[in-house]
Amino acid sequence: MIDVNHERCTGCMACTNICPVKAIKISINDKGFEYPIIDKSICIKCGICDKICPITASKKNESNDRNKPIKIYAAKNKVENIRVKSSSGGVFYEISELILSEMNGCVCGAVYDENFEVKHIMTSKKEIRNNMQGSKYVQSKMGYLYKEIEEKLKEKKKVLFTGTPCEVDGVYKYLNGKNIDSTNLYTCDIICHGVPSPGIYKEYLNKLEEKFSSKIKSINFRYKENEYTQNIKIEFENGKQYISNYFKGDELYNLFLKDYILRDSCYRCNYASTKRVSDITIGDFWGIEKTIKNFDDKKGVSLVLINTEKGKAIFDKVSDKFNLIESNIEDCMQNNLRKPCDIPPKYDELWNIYRKNGYNCMVNFMKNL
Ligand SMILES: Cc1cc2nc3c(=O)[nH]c(=O)nc-3n(C[C@H](O)[C@H](O)[C@H](O)COP(=O)(O)OP(=O)(O)OC[C@H]3O[C@@H](n4cnc5c(N)ncnc54)[C@H](O)[C@@H]3O)c2cc1C
Repeated sequence: MIDVNHERCTGCMACTNICPVKAIKISINDKGFEYPIIDKSICIKCGICDKICPITASKKNESNDRNKPIKIYAAKNKVENIRVKSSSGGVFYEISELILSEMNGCVCGAVYDENFEVKHIMTSKKEIRNNMQGSKYVQSKMGYLYKEIEEKLKEKKKVLFTGTPCEVDGVYKYLNGKNIDSTNLYTCDIICHGVPSPGIYKEYLNKLEEKFSSKIKSINFRYKENEYTQNIKIEFENGKQYISNYFKGDELYNLFLKDYILRDSCYRCNYASTKRVSDITIGDFWGIEKTIKNFDDKKGVSLVLINTEKGKAIFDKVSDKFNLIESNIEDCMQNNLRKPCDIPPKYDELWNIYRKNGYNCMVNFMKNL
């Protein structure tokens, strides 16, 4: 039976999906993250959760299912409007378009629900896929999506799963555990800085709703304005809007990028490497201006790592949609391809303040650090 290690559990929820007797429930910890919890009165001790858990499985299997990129590109979607709606260069859009239009398949990715919580869903509809565009800088809730993926694969449908590397690993481990043929599964992971707390994100949204005396109508974490691509823009039902970023002191971006509100496992992440778990990895091509001159137009450039032949086959089919330049691992290197984020100074103190005195005191403490 799985012994959930709270420092290492990524929350991929492969265990909750695979449990044959639904003995694994979801609980929220005091930092606002979901964790699996076993109801021992229901558990039949079959051990399947332990066998497929990416954390315990990787200890036995030492990541032999990872690949170094075979091709690396800087990519800009040729259609400006697609790029504007995407976080980086609009690569997710074209890969998902191929799966939906030409392969008649389904796409899984992160969307906002009606309360602006972030969750993973599956769709075969383009208008719903459009909601997956754009980074949501908060851990996405997986629910029972792996079971849906299993059903589609059994129907011989093509499925594209997109998400963080630990989520992609969760999908593979779940399917392996159930002996499901994954030939029709395509995976695309993001380069991941770490996932922020859904609980703190909720506190941040509540505070803004109070400040603007209105419910939120839309959120865009990557609003591209004045040559800066990492602004948060929140529109309210009363017509007001909030636009800010890390440098202007946005609280969520500061807590996130100063590494205070990442999941415990993110500081110990064993996917933060150039050896990748997915077919294709996408990220921001940070620092491109230093190695490829005159390519960055400040509207977003994607870094694309093609990790498998399967990934190459699908990317080759959409490559004409992009302005592409081939790159190499040295030129595209960034922090989270090397190692996980470090725990910042006074991290425990900050969380103790949150537990004792709440969100506002936590933010004030961070501002004075
Ligand atoms: C939490 C987080 C941390 C990131 N950290 C880095 C980083 O350190 N370095 C870097 O280069 N890039 C990072 N990225 C990736 C980057 O922000 C873009 O998502 C990526 O470049 C893809 O851009 P795009 O233009 O191709 O497509 P977009 O349309 O922007 O891509 C959307 C894709 O991101 C997925 N997605 C969105 N939010 C989430 C979420 N919360 N959880 C899982 N999947 C999600 C969607 O399912 C979809 O596949 C991060 C993304 C997230 C969500």
